[in-house]
Amino acid sequence: MKVKKFRCIQCGGPKINPYSTPYIVCDFCGSFTDIDFAVGMEKWNESAPVTLNYQFQKMALMSRAQMALAAGDQRGYYAIQKEYWDFYYRSFPTYLPPSIDNDKKYAIYIEICSVSSTESAFDPKWQQYGLKQQHLQAQVQFTVEDGRRIADSNAFFRLADFFASITREGMSAFYRDPKFNIMHQLLPEPVHFKLKTSMFVQAWLPYLRQADAARLLREMGFANEYVEIEPPAGKAVACGHCAGQLFAPEGSYKVFCEKCRKTTNVRAQFFCMSCGSPNQVPEDPSKPIDCSNCGIANRLIQPQFGW
Ligand SMILES: [Zn+2]
Ligand SMILES: [Zn+2]
Ligand SMILES: [Zn+2]
Repeated sequence: MKVKKFRCIQCGGPKINPYSTPYIVCDFCGSFTDIDFAVGMEKWNESAPVTLNYQFQKMALMSRAQMALAAGDQRGYYAIQKEYWDFYYRSFPTYLPPSIDNDKKYAIYIEICSVSSTESAFDPKWQQYGLKQQHLQAQVQFTVEDGRRIADSNAFFRLADFFASITREGMSAFYRDPKFNIMHQLLPEPVHFKLKTSMFVQAWLPYLRQADAARLLREMGFANEYVEIEPPAGKAVACGHCAGQLFAPEGSYKVFCEKCRKTTNVRAQFFCMSCGSPNQVPEDPSKPIDCSNCGIANRLIQPQFGW
């Protein structure tokens, strides 16, 4: 069978089960692990009225935010950010990370988005970066080819490289900040990086030549290759939350339900590879776990897929 090539960042497993949102949840360990850019685009274009309304409201919110920033009104800016992030996820519920599956986590997540965007807006270093990005963007010249406005390759990739490097820098500081600790669970750093860059890629793709578009997708990790794999053996299990039917491939410990967006444990026990005694499957089966009897570290999921 043909599947898109995803390799879980935690356990190395491929993505087997079909999915309906841009987010890839591993069929072996249940981790939120990647983004499917093409599905993200489909969802963005699914309803023109929703997208237009979003763009219109966003412009209004952003101009209010600019005014608050110019006035040095940090609290006002933060309040507008809260309004914006909530509006964004209500407009596009499929863009909400699958790890955010209740109101409490949603509130925490919106709070973190708002606090961190306010902090960077008022940080002189990030203001400098913003100016540099605007400057690089202004240097991108356009020509018309086949009725399409096309961006100049060299200037565009200078902008794209700069954008990727500041995004990486911002992410790494953000994930080291103890007050955002919970984000390691809600949205792992490599996935968050791709989430940010996907918006940049989405905005620029219409202005790129085919070869440049392919290069950008490849450099940002959105290449979307397909790969042929043996259909894995496995079994049907009932979702522990909505009772819908799920497929658990052989070797799976946790599967994700697309219908109710929750994970279900496939197995409760494993047997130690060294002494054979039974152990409880840990909350995160992608991490090595010490046997409770002999202390040997067991790796429950082997990245056995050869890619
Ligand atoms: Zn995994
Ligand atoms: Zn379910
Ligand atoms: Zn043991």
